[in-house]
Amino acid sequence: MQVIEETRRLQERADRVRGEGRTIGLVPTMGALHEGHLSLVDAARSKADEVWVTIFVNPTQFGPDEDLDRYPRPRDADLRLCRARGVDLVFAPDASFYAGGHETWVDVADLTRPLCGAGRPGHFRGVTTVVTKLFLAAKPHVAVFGEKDFQQLAALRRMARDLNFDVEVVGAPIVREPDGVALSSRNLLLRSDARAQAPALVRSLDVAERLVRDGMRSREEILARVRAELARADLGCVEYAELREPEGLAPAPDLLSGPTLLALAVHFPASAGEGATVRLIDNRVLYATNPSQETPR
Ligand code: AMP
Repeated sequence: MQVIEETRRLQERADRVRGEGRTIGLVPTMGALHEGHLSLVDAARSKADEVWVTIFVNPTQFGPDEDLDRYPRPRDADLRLCRARGVDLVFAPDASFYAGGHETWVDVADLTRPLCGAGRPGHFRGVTTVVTKLFLAAKPHVAVFGEKDFQQLAALRRMARDLNFDVEVVGAPIVREPDGVALSSRNLLLRSDARAQAPALVRSLDVAERLVRDGMRSREEILARVRAELARADLGCVEYAELREPEGLAPAPDLLSGPTLLALAVHFPASAGEGATVRLIDNRVLYATNPSQETPR
């Protein structure tokens, strides 16, 4: 497995691989790798000849009060995990990846304003800009992102389409802990009593899925049941619980029809020394089809 730190060298390597007629599958990450990230490696492997992972804690997607300094950076363990999973190349640039005086931004407009964008202004602009830089550095044919960050995936798909990036943006399913909590490096920062309540997110998704399967279509009734389920986790503070149309993320209609995204963000107390709260997100697409449209799932 090759480890490259300079952008220029990565571009040269990409040109060589492309010149040999081989395809590149890219998995952008901020490191602190877990099985969720590694599932993206597997997905990239099924789509491309070479799998390249990028590890870069991107400062431009953190707000001033967020956990940039505390974000874990276990570089050696990350490299070991990549090697064991058969990754061909890791791109791990240092802070100079953003040249001094960086002034250029890629902003996907409306799609990044609601949900996580409302509570984290500037976050998605940081994501789309760094992914643009990574696409131009690694020149991948395919790039894989997790559905855990559903809005991020939607924004990156839209960016690739709007800017004619010749990159197939692929989504991969959420990988979960045995108790259903979506894997995240931030789970380790939860106070232990809060960690015990974290399955409230996935339980709420399950409740909503069951209600829709049983025929409930009222957006407000479903959200009321979701909020009631979340409220059982009394340490949690709900940032949002919303139903939206999955592609453009417009608000869902009063009566659901077709696929509908249920997206959640909840803050829980952090363990000592890890800041005030840890923000967990989760989501699921609910299929509010009419009986005549139903396909077996
Ligand atoms: P991050 O390092 O947190 O920026 O995440 C890098 C990539 O891994 C993103 O595309 C995430 O959506 C994806 N990812 C993170 N956690 C999970 C998970 N539990 N399941 C699937 N993908 C994930």
